[in-house]
Amino acid sequence: MAGVWQIKRYFANRKVDKQNGESERTPLIDYEVGMEDSPKNLIPLRAWNVVGCSEILHTSQPAVPKASVDQHLEQTDVDLRHRFIERRSNRACLLAKRSGASVPLGVTCILLVRFSSIGDVLLTTPLVRSLRTRHPAARLVFVTKRALAPLVVDNPRLSEVVALEPGESLRTLARRLSALRPTTGLDLHGSLRSAALRLFVRCPWRGYSKRKLARRVLIATKIDLYGRRVGVAERYFEAAAGLDVRPDGGPPEFFVAAAARERAARWLAERRLDGAPLAVLAPGAAHFTKRWPPDRWVALAERLRAAGYGLAVVGGPDDRAVAQALASHAASTAGDFALQETGALLARARVAISGDTGVMHMATGVGTPVVALFGPTVEQFGFFPYAARAAVLQRDLDCRPCSAMGGPRCPMGHHRCLRDIGVEDVAAAVERLVA
Ligand code: SF4
Repeated sequence: MAGVWQIKRYFANRKVDKQNGESERTPLIDYEVGMEDSPKNLIPLRAWNVVGCSEILHTSQPAVPKASVDQHLEQTDVDLRHRFIERRSNRACLLAKRSGASVPLGVTCILLVRFSSIGDVLLTTPLVRSLRTRHPAARLVFVTKRALAPLVVDNPRLSEVVALEPGESLRTLARRLSALRPTTGLDLHGSLRSAALRLFVRCPWRGYSKRKLARRVLIATKIDLYGRRVGVAERYFEAAAGLDVRPDGGPPEFFVAAAARERAARWLAERRLDGAPLAVLAPGAAHFTKRWPPDRWVALAERLRAAGYGLAVVGGPDDRAVAQALASHAASTAGDFALQETGALLARARVAISGDTGVMHMATGVGTPVVALFGPTVEQFGFFPYAARAAVLQRDLDCRPCSAMGGPRCPMGHHRCLRDIGVEDVAAAVERLVA
C-alpha cells in the first residue's frame, strides 16, 4: 500500500512532585502514525492545533505497517521521537507557575518581530538559534520588512518569514499573523509600530528594554548607568524570558542562498579576485560622523594591496561616491549587490573592515573576521561585534558618545573619534586578525 504517512510528535504535560517541588515531563500521548488522507487519524491532530506545522513529518515512502513504526522512525528522523509539542493547558500552566518551573507550556507558534535594520535583525539570530534548540517543534515565525527579509529568509532555524510589504497596513499584516494562531509574541523592535501590532495580534507578548534612558544620560552627561555590558543580541533574550532559553555564546548567523554565492563567485572571477586573499572594505555609513575619512580608506587600500590582498568595496547606492574614490585599488559592488550577495562576498573574504554599520554584523554573521571602527557610538549601546572574531578600534575621548546613531556633523568640529584612528592601526589590526 503506497501513500504518505503523517507522524505526530509527542505532546507533553507537566507533573509537579509536591514533595520535593520538582517537575518532570510526561508524555500525554504517544506518537501516532497514519495516512494523510485518513480523517480518523487527522482528527486528533486538529484537536491539538498542529495541523500544517512543520512538526508533522511527511514522507512519500511506501507506507509501513504500524507495527514497524519504530523502525520507520529510526530510518527517517532519529530525533523525531524525542521532540515535544507542548500543549496549551491552563491547569498545567498554573501548576508550572506555582512550582516556579522555567519551561513554558503551550509554546507552539512564536512570532519574532523586528522590522529593521540590518544589524538589529541579524543580532536576533542567536535568540532564534536558542529557541530552535530549546523548542525544536515550535513554529518560529520571523516578521520583518520586505527589504530585510533576505537576511533571515534562508535561516533554517526559522519555520517561516513573514514580510511587511511596502505600503501594507499593520492591520493587514496583523490579520496574516493572527491566521497563524501564535501562542507567543516577542517584540524585538520596541517601537510604536510594533506596539500597534501587539494590539492587533492577540497572544501573550513580551518585549525587552532598549535602555533608552541610560543611553540618553550617557550621551548628554557621560554618566554611565548601563552597569554590566550586555550586547543587544543578549538583550533580546529578555523578551524570551519565559521560554527557558539562554545565549549559547555563538555569533549571529547570516545564511546565504546558493544563487547569491554563485553570483559573488562569478563577480570575483570576472575581476580576477578569486586567487588572492580578499579583504572587503565597507567605507559607507548612514551618517557622516560614523564614517572614517575617505583619504584614510584610500591609504588603507594602498597598504592592503601592497600586502597582497585583493580588495572589494561593499555598500548601498549612497556609497558609490566613496567607492569611486577607491576605484584604482578596489572593485566595487556598492549599489549593485543585494543583501545576500553582499553576504556571499563577505563570506569569501579573509577579513572585512567596517564602521559601526550593518555590514559589520553581516561579516560576523557569515563568520568573517572584522576590524570595526567605532567613533561617536560606544560599547554600552550594545552593537559591538557579538561573539565573533573581531578587533574594535576606538579612541578614548570625553566627547564620546555624542549620538545614538551618528549625525551629519561632529558637534566638536574635529571628528577626532574616527580621525585619530590611523591607517597603520587598522592595518595592524588586520594583520593580527588574519594571522
Ligand atoms: S569627535 Fe566626539 S563629538 Fe565629534 S563625532 Fe566623534 S564622538 Fe562625536
